[in-house]
Amino acid sequence: MMKLGTINHIALTVSDLERSEAFYNTLLEFLGYAQAENTPQLILWTSPDGVITISPSNPKSLNQKHDRYSPGLHHLAFSADNREQVDKLYQLLTEHGVEILDPPAEYDYMPDYYALYFLDPDSIKLELTHIPNWPAET
Ligand SMILES: [Zn+2]
Repeated sequence: MMKLGTINHIALTVSDLERSEAFYNTLLEFLGYAQAENTPQLILWTSPDGVITISPSNPKSLNQKHDRYSPGLHHLAFSADNREQVDKLYQLLTEHGVEILDPPAEYDYMPDYYALYFLDPDSIKLELTHIPNWPAET
């Protein structure tokens, strides 16, 4: 059922569709998504909790890296059920040569915030985080 205000889908632009397909297959399959559509214009993964797509960027921006300090997306965070999943993804990404920004650790943002930060092939910052009792019940 759709719920007002929840994120419906996230659409990313990538400079090399094949390279990013390999990366997102690894990441999203781990996170419980399955590839549901694959065309030269769009690759789409779905899970019960969301839809993520990648599409080719403008050829002019082929060698550009994503700059999270320019207007636009800073980073995208996925949820984990527990810390072990965060550690497991870290291991998987390391095996695939993914660039890690910060390995799994507790961060001070909130009590027991445990997260891993890494980059997609275009330098989009991604996060897997486990936060007990998130979102806080009101
Ligand atoms: Zn974050």
